[in-house]
Amino acid sequence: MNQTTLANEISATGVGLHTGVDVNLNLKPAPENTGYIFVRTDLDNFEIPASAEYISHCSYATTLMRRGVVLSTCEHLLSALRGSGVDNCFIELDNIEIPIMDGSSEDFLELIRSAGITEQDSPRRFFRVLKTIDVDQNGRMMSIEPSDRFEIECVIEFPHPFINRQSLHFVFENGSFGREIGSARTFGFTHEIEMLRKANLALGGSLDNAIVLTPDGMLNETPLRYDDEFVRHKILDIIGDFALLGMPVLGKITAEKSGHAVHAALMSKLLKTEGAWEIVF
Ligand SMILES: [Zn+2]
Repeated sequence: MNQTTLANEISATGVGLHTGVDVNLNLKPAPENTGYIFVRTDLDNFEIPASAEYISHCSYATTLMRRGVVLSTCEHLLSALRGSGVDNCFIELDNIEIPIMDGSSEDFLELIRSAGITEQDSPRRFFRVLKTIDVDQNGRMMSIEPSDRFEIECVIEFPHPFINRQSLHFVFENGSFGREIGSARTFGFTHEIEMLRKANLALGGSLDNAIVLTPDGMLNETPLRYDDEFVRHKILDIIGDFALLGMPVLGKITAEKSGHAVHAALMSKLLKTEGAWEIVF
């Protein structure tokens, strides 16, 4: 199996979920062994590689920073690229935040599909987990252990009638991302959104790009895409964040009530642990 990139360049426009800014996005083919690189075309084409070493904060979205230049909410696009089996891609944008689109990865998957995927000459590299590593942040738990494939077992718990406890075991294989995960939307609670707005976040948020939950229902008038859309979106986020390891993962992730900060802590611990991983072809 060789590495892949996009067959053609493709563009989209949208709005940033947290900053509310308009942004033009352009996905371009990239050479072998590039991985994913964000290019800020509004800042002299400054490059920020999609790498765990540039994670700067991750409370409500994953934000990367390199030499003071910031790139926010990268997880849903990275999830779509990884989910589509694209290894190498330049992601050009002319503002600080990746557009939220409909709150899932669906529009990005469609963009990638219409651009086409082409095989390159070098063999695909994998990030293979060799030792079990875990983190526990006050009951938010996550671990990664060796496996011959990429799989995620995720449990979420929220005291809400639509959620309560949801769990799903997702196995990454041909086409499974698009079928089971890609269209699951991000979600938030009305009380949380008031707090975010006060902190100047979620400024681009609307019922067109998020499921907004009230104490006993939701504001959206269109139905959920899956009964367990919430846990599916958590898996989408995990895939997007773990794309920051730079190549497809061979390992099994178990997550319970995790979030972006826990994902970042686990990747950091994994990368720092001697003998816990290797790169294989
Ligand atoms: Zn998300």
